[in-house]
Amino acid sequence: VPVERIRNFSIIAHIDHGKSTLADRLLEYTGALSDREKQDQFLDNMELERERGITIKAQSVRLNYKADDGLDYELNLIDTPGHVDFNYEVSRSLAACEGALLVVDASQGVEAQTLANVYLALENNLEIIPVFNKIDLPGADIDRVKREVEEVIGLDCSDAVPASAKEGIGMREILEAVVKRVPPPKTAGEDAPLRALLVDSWYDAYRGAMALIRVVDGTIRPGMKIKMMATKAEYEVTELGVFAPFARSIAELGPGEAGFFAASIKTVRDCKVGDTITEMRRQASERLPGFREVKPMVFCGIFPTEPNEYPNLREALEKLQLNDSALSWEPETSEALGFGFRCGFLGMLHMDIVQERLEREYDLDLITTAPSVVYHVHLTDGTMTPVENPSRLPDPVKIDHIEEPYFKVSIHVPSTYVGAVLKLCEERRGVQKAIQYASQDRVIIVYELPLGEVLFDFFDKLKSATKGYASMDYELAGYRESPLVRVDMLINGDKVDALSAIVHREKAQWLGRGLAEKLRGIVPRQQYEVAIQAAIGGKIIARETVRAMRKDVTAKCYGGDISRKRKLLEKQKEGKKRMKAVGSVDIPQEAFHAILKVE
Ligand code: GDP
Ligand code: MG
Repeated sequence: VPVERIRNFSIIAHIDHGKSTLADRLLEYTGALSDREKQDQFLDNMELERERGITIKAQSVRLNYKADDGLDYELNLIDTPGHVDFNYEVSRSLAACEGALLVVDASQGVEAQTLANVYLALENNLEIIPVFNKIDLPGADIDRVKREVEEVIGLDCSDAVPASAKEGIGMREILEAVVKRVPPPKTAGEDAPLRALLVDSWYDAYRGAMALIRVVDGTIRPGMKIKMMATKAEYEVTELGVFAPFARSIAELGPGEAGFFAASIKTVRDCKVGDTITEMRRQASERLPGFREVKPMVFCGIFPTEPNEYPNLREALEKLQLNDSALSWEPETSEALGFGFRCGFLGMLHMDIVQERLEREYDLDLITTAPSVVYHVHLTDGTMTPVENPSRLPDPVKIDHIEEPYFKVSIHVPSTYVGAVLKLCEERRGVQKAIQYASQDRVIIVYELPLGEVLFDFFDKLKSATKGYASMDYELAGYRESPLVRVDMLINGDKVDALSAIVHREKAQWLGRGLAEKLRGIVPRQQYEVAIQAAIGGKIIARETVRAMRKDVTAKCYGGDISRKRKLLEKQKEGKKRMKAVGSVDIPQEAFHAILKVE
């Protein structure tokens, strides 16, 4: 179809407001999915995503739609992930679109992520079409949601579409709104020198690195020799295709179209997301505006339980990084854990997902250390070193002062929970910035909080303090000076570097004691007594003892009936994988995360 009849759009929403369900329904409605192929939540295609019920990677699907004006349109639906950790991917997907459906659950209203997504859409100059979803629910209140969107976001809702993704209500109205209101892609034409935006890339075991692209100018075809303008890598396109929704080869992708290509790309680093692809023979002079670089916020060490797995772990990280440009890593050596990698993530969910993918998709047994933020350590000689690993904190006598990262956190809650939220933020050393009414009974609370205090369990605590009603969004607010110290843990007198933590001076005693107590419960009994100590500088601040194993206890266990014995053995075998011998003591994985559990 001509470019005037192409529409590229995305669906944005707060989590659980029905984005995936709506995408499925639109696929079905346009006939992209037959009944036989129908499978709930088609776009959430990774096994892991399905289990967690979240969408991680952006995906694009081409839909063919005959509109009320009798003409055929090509609609490209670019899916976006729905979690705060993945905002950079949302932004990236939106850069490939001209419009967005803003899905708001009509029984819930505007949430923190609704607002954050709208800002991203506005930054990308998208036409926003509000869709009020779940109107089949008895609690749906379209008038109230309309008022909220207009007041909080300032978006005109006179043409908002009421819908139920669950029952398939409003699908035609939504597609008509896309055709009429989303502008067609802007282009220099199909004969102009090729410029295509590399939106996403991933690794395919058979075809090498694959790229999702959005063509802006010109046309790309199989056999074409191409060049990545930033990395200067040169390749020949071996395969060109679209997802409709299953991968299908096509002869060309013209202006405004989205699709994927393979080019036997062996060096995964050549496929840099945000790069511009042009034709070798007729190169474009200017790159497209790329994406803003994202910086990892959370770091942790990842070590193989078996030292000979180290090369496999490196290879797995290389492949994962291709699919996930926000993941960073570099080699790290720990006295306790040996050779591994220090990895950087956007947030805790991102970290969990990477760890799970490494173990599941690459079949690795790993020990991961507790997450840490990046501290700015100013030395007495006037220089600053970023420290992302507590065990690498310079000698205190060389430190002038330490700064820690702060987040600006916006929390949306029903007004009855304001007190509970303020209490939580104050406990976490927060600085109140604003309290504002979104509507009569909904409040937006803005705090600046040290990232180290919100990273681990803040969201869980927030959810339980507000019976699940709070929603949250965050952004980096810069670095502030804090009185921070390092707490070290010693096992039988040996410092275990992977257990060190950096913490506010006033919380150090409490943390050291709590950590020693937790570890006492986690470190398994040995033939001899094990001392667990916490220290600040050289000074011991807490001590716990793991008593030696009593002979008769083991005797009893192993003397039991055979099935019980087998169960025990199996359990031991499983546990074994996740243990690491530190000195003469086997330390289980759990120990390295004990800090997250100190109450
Ligand atoms: P996402 O997180 O935005 O992708 O949301 P999902 O599409 O996964 O939907 C979240 C939950 O809301 C699921 O349990 C859906 O079945 C449900 N849901 C989605 N749309 C509707 C709707 O129109 N009506 C009702 N009653 N439930 C819906
Ligand atoms: Mg979803």
